[in-house]
Amino acid sequence: MTVASVQNQSEASFVKSMKCRECGNEYPKQPVHVCEYCFGPLEIAYDYEAIGRALTRKTIESRAPSMWRYAELLPIDGPPTVGAQTGMTPLVKANRLAAWLGVKELWLKNDSVSYPTLSFKDRVVSVAISKAREFGIKVVACASTGNLANATASQAASVGMPAVILIPHDLEPAKVLATSVYGARVVGVSGTYDDVNRLCSEIAGKYGWGFVNVNLRPFYAEGSKAFGYEIAEQLGWKLPAHVVVPMAGGSLITKIDKSFKEFTKLGLVEARGSTKIHGAQAAGCGPIASMVVEDRDFVKPVKTPQTIAKSLAIGNPADGIYARQTMLGSGGFAALPNDDDICDAILALAEHEGIFTETAGGVTLGAAKKLVEQGRIGADDGPVVICITGQGLKTQDPLVERVRKPSLIGPKLTDFDQLVGSGTFTGYLS
Ligand SMILES: [Zn+2]
Repeated sequence: MTVASVQNQSEASFVKSMKCRECGNEYPKQPVHVCEYCFGPLEIAYDYEAIGRALTRKTIESRAPSMWRYAELLPIDGPPTVGAQTGMTPLVKANRLAAWLGVKELWLKNDSVSYPTLSFKDRVVSVAISKAREFGIKVVACASTGNLANATASQAASVGMPAVILIPHDLEPAKVLATSVYGARVVGVSGTYDDVNRLCSEIAGKYGWGFVNVNLRPFYAEGSKAFGYEIAEQLGWKLPAHVVVPMAGGSLITKIDKSFKEFTKLGLVEARGSTKIHGAQAAGCGPIASMVVEDRDFVKPVKTPQTIAKSLAIGNPADGIYARQTMLGSGGFAALPNDDDICDAILALAEHEGIFTETAGGVTLGAAKKLVEQGRIGADDGPVVICITGQGLKTQDPLVERVRKPSLIGPKLTDFDQLVGSGTFTGYLS
């Protein structure tokens, strides 16, 4: 993979340190994710004054169309060595879906066509593995509900790094195959995602591997910010009135919030009032969304997730508390569509906009529908942005019984005439 497209960018790092989100203790850059004093999560701290001097709209616009056009706000020291082409996915004006949803101005941020593995996880992995290589780490790994497995295996393969992928044993076959194909070592664990994640924390300490979402998590999570930067830039350097975000561990929603705040602080967007940030989870596994809906300030872990949205099925979310703060702090809310709502939303998106999203996308659109019905997203509010984070080809099973089966006929014109005459083509004949 070439990095030529990003060579015109500054190679200085604007990262000051790593800082504990809870107690504020600072650490030098290293592959750790937990504060040794209070066990709070570590975050990347930037020198925003220096970034403000280096980064303008014009500079950004002059760069290649990838997430690395915002390099100063991402935590690696040199140019990216994996995923240099990742990001800058389409922001689609969705007029037909807007009518279905009942809003005036609707946009879809479409990471179902993310490069290279068709989900927003390409963004976080691009940062995490580039950083792992800067640290001299030789093997990368992850705990995954599927999309992260695909992204980690693919981007590790692109630079010949060995990858170890741990997943719950009952993942969708398409996601397993689309991990193994890159040559990664895939380990299915009999248990839930939370069991897998716990095991990975132990392995990371013992084997010295770079787990993108464990010991590299502070760097990894920053990659999600590009999703938010792109929304703002693609709206013409404006922030939306509402954004609806899927939640699994709860990291993406907090990072979209951070991206909007950073752009505001740097003067890159017009200050246009606050953006309401809403969260979406499936009814069958909604430990974060239920905190908001039930007005509770602690996570009740979901022991046995029961939803077709497996990529969001994290019962004990790492960033749940912070995700709740993001929603409520922005004036947003949460909603939990059930499996039927999820399938309805997937079909509505496909039939109105020609975009096929995975079950997580159905959760996000299904949640948006509820928020509009409840008046939390006003019909005249705009722009409304819905975050589509993954590809429908990976999770086809739930739809098999929901879509029209192909008609079967013989190869003669009379066979086709008979089919048309049977009444199934009403509306097709002039
Ligand atoms: Zn701390």
